[in-house]
Amino acid sequence: MSAPAATIDREDLLTRARRVIPGGASAGGRPLYDDVIDSAHGAYLYSPTGKRYIDHLLSYGPIVIGHTDEVVNAAVASTMSRVDLNWVGPQANEVELAEKIVALVPSAEKVVLMNTGTDALQHALHVARAATGRQRILKFHGHYHGWVGELGVGANFDVEPGAAPAASTPNSGGSAPDVADDVIVVDWNDIEAVEQVFLAHGRDLAAVFTEPYLHSYTNAAPAPGFLERLRELSSLHRAVLVFDEVKTGFRHHVGGYQVIAGVTPDLTALGKAMGNGFTISALAGRADLMDLLGTEVTIDGTYYANPYGAAASLATIALLEAGAVEHLWTLGERLREGLTAAIRDTGVVANVTGVGSGWIINWRETPPVTFSEAADADFDRAESFRVAMLDAGILLPPYVITDARICAAYTIDDIDETVEAARRAFALVR
Ligand code: PMP
Repeated sequence: MSAPAATIDREDLLTRARRVIPGGASAGGRPLYDDVIDSAHGAYLYSPTGKRYIDHLLSYGPIVIGHTDEVVNAAVASTMSRVDLNWVGPQANEVELAEKIVALVPSAEKVVLMNTGTDALQHALHVARAATGRQRILKFHGHYHGWVGELGVGANFDVEPGAAPAASTPNSGGSAPDVADDVIVVDWNDIEAVEQVFLAHGRDLAAVFTEPYLHSYTNAAPAPGFLERLRELSSLHRAVLVFDEVKTGFRHHVGGYQVIAGVTPDLTALGKAMGNGFTISALAGRADLMDLLGTEVTIDGTYYANPYGAAASLATIALLEAGAVEHLWTLGERLREGLTAAIRDTGVVANVTGVGSGWIINWRETPPVTFSEAADADFDRAESFRVAMLDAGILLPPYVITDARICAAYTIDDIDETVEAARRAFALVR
C-alpha cells in the first residue's frame, strides 16, 4: 500500500507543537523523531512527506494486530453507534471481557478494567498494602511499572538517544539492595539478593513487583527457578506477588507470560496489547485481594471500563486466539535469526535477544541481564545504527536500550526488508 494523500503540513505542525506543548509532544521520547505521522495501516506509518516506516516501535506495545485494523475498528464503531460512556452498573462488554480474562489468565479470579498500565499497577500497590497492612515493596532495577509514585521511582529512561541512563537513581543497578523510602530495589534474576531482602525485611514486605519476562531494558528471560522462588518466598512471608504483564500479556500468550512460565502470581497488571491501541487495561487476581477494591481501596476512574476499549479488547483477543499469536512467534523467530546472521556476517559487536514478537539488539559482547549491564553498551554505535535504520524506513525505539517488536500485520517481506536494512546499517557502523 502506498501513502494516502497527506492531510498535515509537517513543518507547520512541528512549529505549532513546540509553541504550545512542553517539549513539543505530550509524551517523552516522541519529539526525538523530528517527524509526524499522517496515516497508519497494518505494519506501516506514513509521514506527510510520503515516507513509509515499517513500525518496530508500535507505541511500545499496544499495536499487536496492526495499525487501523479493520476488524478491531469495526467492533469499536459498532459499539459506539449503540452506547457510549455511562455511569450505570456494569457495562455490557465489561462483563464479557472480565469473563474472558478470567477464562484465559491463570491468576485471574476477578478483574477490574482500567485505562492504563500505570492505573493497574498503582491499584495493585494499594491493594497489596491494604491486604497486608505493610508499606514496603521489593522491585527490580530498571523494571518500569508506570510513571507514578514509588513504582516509577527512577525508572524512566530520561536520556538522550545514544546516552547511557542516569546511574544515580535507586533503579540503576548495583549488587547491594538500594532502599529509597519504602522501596527496596535489587538486580533482576539475582536470587541471592532476593533471599537476603526477605531475610531482613520479609515481615515488612507488602508486595514484590516484577515483569515475568523482562522488556523494560533489553529483553531477558527469567533465570531458571527465579520466578518459582519469588512465588515461594512471597507465599511464605505473605507478601503479594504482582506480575507486571503490561508488555507480555496477550502479546506472548493470551493467558499471559505466566502460562509460559508456569508460575501464578497473586495479582496481574495487563494493558497495552489487550486493546490494539485503544485505551484499556486491567488488574486481575485472587478474589480475596480484588474484593478490597471498592471496599478498603478506592476505585473510581471516570473512564474505567469504557465501552470503546472493551470492544477493542474483545476483538483483539479473538484475533490473537485465532492464530495471530502463532504468527507473531513465527515471524519473530525469523527476524531474530536474520539479525543474528547479519551481525555474525558483518562482525559488529552486538547480539539479539527477545521472545515471541519482541526483539532488541544489545550493543555489547554478551546479552545483558542487569540494568547496569544493559547500560554498559556501545551507545554511539547503537545510535548511528538507529539513525541509519530510520533513513532506511525502519522505525526503532528512540532509546537504544529499550525494546522493539512486530505486529501480526507483518509479512515475511517486512521481516526480510528489516533484516536487509539492518545488514546494510551494521556494515555502515562497523
Ligand atoms: N509496565 C510496563 C512493563 C511497561 O512497559 C509500561 C509502559 N511502557 C507500563 C507498565 C506503564 O503502562 P502505561 O504507559 O499504559 O501506563
